[in-house]
Amino acid sequence: MIYVREGNIPKKWYNIVPDLPYFPPYKLPNGEEVREEHLYRIFPRECVRQEFSKERYIDIPEDLIEAYERIGRPTPLYRARRLEKALKTPARIYYKREDLSPTGSHKTNTAIAQAYYAMKEGVKRLTTETGAGQWGSALAYSTAMMGIKALIFMVRVSYNQKPYRKYVMKMYGADVVPSPSELTEFGRRLLKENPDHPGSLGVAISEALEAALSDENTKYSLGSVLNHVLIHQSIIGQEAMEQLSSIGEKPDVLVGCVGGGSNFAGLTYPFIGRMLRKECEKMDVIAVEPTEVPSMTKGEYRYDHADAAAMTPLLKMFTLGYNFVPPPIYAGGLRYHGLAPSLSVLVKEGIVKPVAIDQKESFSAAKLFAETEGLIPAPETSHAIAAVIRRAVEDREKGEEEVILFNYSGHGLLDLEGYRVVLSL
Ligand SMILES: *Cc1c(COP(=O)(O)O)cnc(C)c1O
Repeated sequence: MIYVREGNIPKKWYNIVPDLPYFPPYKLPNGEEVREEHLYRIFPRECVRQEFSKERYIDIPEDLIEAYERIGRPTPLYRARRLEKALKTPARIYYKREDLSPTGSHKTNTAIAQAYYAMKEGVKRLTTETGAGQWGSALAYSTAMMGIKALIFMVRVSYNQKPYRKYVMKMYGADVVPSPSELTEFGRRLLKENPDHPGSLGVAISEALEAALSDENTKYSLGSVLNHVLIHQSIIGQEAMEQLSSIGEKPDVLVGCVGGGSNFAGLTYPFIGRMLRKECEKMDVIAVEPTEVPSMTKGEYRYDHADAAAMTPLLKMFTLGYNFVPPPIYAGGLRYHGLAPSLSVLVKEGIVKPVAIDQKESFSAAKLFAETEGLIPAPETSHAIAAVIRRAVEDREKGEEEVILFNYSGHGLLDLEGYRVVLSL
């Protein structure tokens, strides 16, 4: 048995919030608690409803199940036999193939849901920001499938230096503009001060929000961090649970890389939920962040803005400070100052254990993975792989036959420049 291809798409998403020991409310800068009404102008209403939901399970609409089939769900679960052999480990390593979606990462799982609800509610256009372009391409694909428009603010340096995901977005018919842009007041002001402004994710978020707020047929879409996004990703873990149990396995260790926390939550929350409800034995749950952006291992747990421009409400989370400027590592999706509030609770309570791994070790792990498993991982995913390799080597030393499950969040076929530089290819 090398992989499990079968399985069912779950009929419901899983929401971890009711199973958490506590969940601190979002706040406005004046200390007032954020209510649903505050967010209706920004996000599709159903997304806002899910954001505040206390229900453990939320029905997935029939049309969305079809859309999930189209993006290749259920995704197969692979066993990393050749990697296990190379490491001479007694551990059994499994990974969930989220790289097989049309745009190459898990991000379509929520993009398609958000585009669907926007379309249903008569929203004509979604705006968003994107750095390296993974999120932007997932949203461009999804808006195309739902027949609405997308306006994507892409950080100017990435727009110029990493053209391929920009072309992906344009192929799907999205409008992609380098940020700062002439389209918003904020962008025009920055360009006036500095016509060569390189842009940043914070600036792009501000522009995307401004564009959404200044047009009543437009709403905004976010790719990680918030509850509704993590809820949509829960299909990953639910599928994996069914697939593993169909071959008589259950995981001892769960691993995922963490930017804002969405792919990690997607894989692990359905398992963690069972653990919190005492329906299964304890598992080690390992969240991997880059040493260069250490929000979980070095950040503080406090209220902070979700964006670098301080436009969003305050979320209680592990943070390096909203004005922290992450170093230019190649894993663009992990360059985020904060952490999903739900994941922050799990880290704070010691239920999830964070580790930090640097770019060099991660990229070497990616190379070993490519040579053994035949797949070139996204630079983000390589952090999870490095942590899996560390654990599998420990298992060899202890002679421990554990089952390790990790999320293979995306492929790296548009990220080869980073590998070339760091690994001197
Ligand atoms: C965006 C991205 C990540 C990080 O984002 P999360 O919300 O933490 O999952 C990880 N892997 C890939 C492939 C990505 O595109």
